[in-house]
Formats: sequence, structure tokens, C-alpha cells
Amino acid sequence: MNIENRYVSGKEILDWQSIELSKGGEVEEIEWLLDIGGGFSCSSFAKLKIIQDRKYQLKLSLEKLSTIWERYLYEKIPLQYLLGKCPWRDFEIEVNPSALIPRPETELLIDIALDKIQCSLNRSGIWVDLGTGSGVLAIALARALPDWNGHAVDCSKDTLALAKKNFKNLVFDSSVSLHLGNWFEPLHPFLLGKVDLIVSNPPYIPTSFLSELDLLVSKNEPRLALYGGEDGMDSSREIINGASKYLSSGGWLIFEHHFDQSERALEMLIKAGFLNVNFENDLQGVRRFAMGRHP
Ligand code: GLN
Repeated sequence: MNIENRYVSGKEILDWQSIELSKGGEVEEIEWLLDIGGGFSCSSFAKLKIIQDRKYQLKLSLEKLSTIWERYLYEKIPLQYLLGKCPWRDFEIEVNPSALIPRPETELLIDIALDKIQCSLNRSGIWVDLGTGSGVLAIALARALPDWNGHAVDCSKDTLALAKKNFKNLVFDSSVSLHLGNWFEPLHPFLLGKVDLIVSNPPYIPTSFLSELDLLVSKNEPRLALYGGEDGMDSSREIINGASKYLSSGGWLIFEHHFDQSERALEMLIKAGFLNVNFENDLQGVRRFAMGRHP
């Protein structure tokens, strides 16, 4: 088999896959690599079993994909960082170790947010994404709400540079401002009491949970994006506090949290005077999002 070649037969792909899987890893992971890295879609896999002699053009040679797979297995570097990209909702973003790899469960936060502001969809408004990271939440909001003004905040210069790049590639003609700083700190006081929607997927891993994190996560992803202090809720506290000042009357705060933080998050929202306080599960059925409406 000529593994330098990007034109390969179905049989070569199947043989390659079983050799690589004998080194370790899961079928879903190698299929993800072939899809996102090689451009060989999952639907093509189904056809492979029937027509093996057809030739396919890959985006990366099988040799290059093997190198990436081995680094993933042996050096414990996430495939997303090795490829420099990650699909999320209906787009693909650039990623690097300056930002958290966007998680599939976070995708739902956008659906919840759009549902909550449904009655205001026909007018313009203001949203804020706190701790934007690679920019996924902000990009999805900018694409869904082109008439709204958005503000995306992150405290790391490198991370914000990545978000900026992703914005340039994925949102045309956007009225979104990117701010460097801590939570609400870089926002203009003009926004006090005027924001209609605040979203955040803040760092929420509690200290006690650090040792349980997968090596792929703890070794590679930015600590700043992961750890939320002793009980994991330092950021949530700051966000709820600031949201009370920046939200307009009727404005929504929606944020993601650790699987065991739901009750405390809801309590904090109620204590801060929020109305319609509620939670939503992620797709695994785990309580993952807390939300409330500013009085
Ligand atoms: N908002 C980004 C995401 O959900 C970054 C989150 C973070 O760094 N904690 O991927």
C-alpha cells in the first residue's frame, strides 16, 4: 500500500483502520480522525463495506493520519489540538491549546438561549458571552441573531486572538466586540442594565475533582478554562453577581456547570433575586445548565 498517497481505495482505508486500532483507541475516535482530518465522512464508511475497490481522495494521507493517531495515543494530545480544528454545531472552528476544546454538551446552551429570548427575536438586543474561549458560543449567537449587538469576553490574550480568528472565518458582517479582561470588567458601563442575554460556560471543575480528570484534559487544556476554585463555583458566583447589574429587566442569564452543582447554582440565582430560576439537562440527561430571569 502506498501510504503517501492521498488517493486510496476503500480496502486500503479499512486495512489502515484495523492496523491503527490494534495500537489502541476506539472505533469512534478513529472514524472522527478520518472524517475531520481526512475528510472521509461517516456515511462513506457504510459504503466501504460494500464497495471496497472505489478510490477516495483524502485531505491528509494515511501516513500523516497515522502520525496524528500515534501522538494522540502515546503522547496523550487531543485529536482536536493535533488537527487544529473541531466541529461544533453547524460550523468548524480552529482550536489550539490556548482555549478549551468546545464540548458537544455546550451546544445545547445555544438552543436554550434562543428559546428563552424567542419573544424578542424580532427586535435587536444585546448579548454577552463571558469566557468566550475559542468563541463558539459567541459565534453561534452572532450567526443566529444578526441584528443583535454582541460582546465576547476572555481574560487571556492568546485565547481572544483565537476567538478573533474564528470570528473572521465564520461570521460575516458581525456587530460583535471582543474584550480582553476578567468577566464584566472590560465591559463599558453604558451596558449596565441594558443586556438582554448573558451566556457562559465558565471554568467549573472543583479542586477535589482535579485528580479524576482524564490525562488528555489535565495535560493539555488551559487550567484557566477548567478550574473553578475549591467548590468549582468561583466563576459562577462572579457571573451571577455581575449579571444582576448588567441585565435589563427581563434579561436572561444562562450558564453551564458541573454535574453536581445544579442545586447550588439555582440557590445562588434565587438568593440574587432572579425569577423563573430553572435548570436544563444535557443530552446525557445530566443537570448541566442553570438559568434565571432578571426582575
Ligand atoms: N465558551 C467556551 C466553550 O464553551 C470556553 C469555555 C471555557 O474556557 N471554560 O468552549
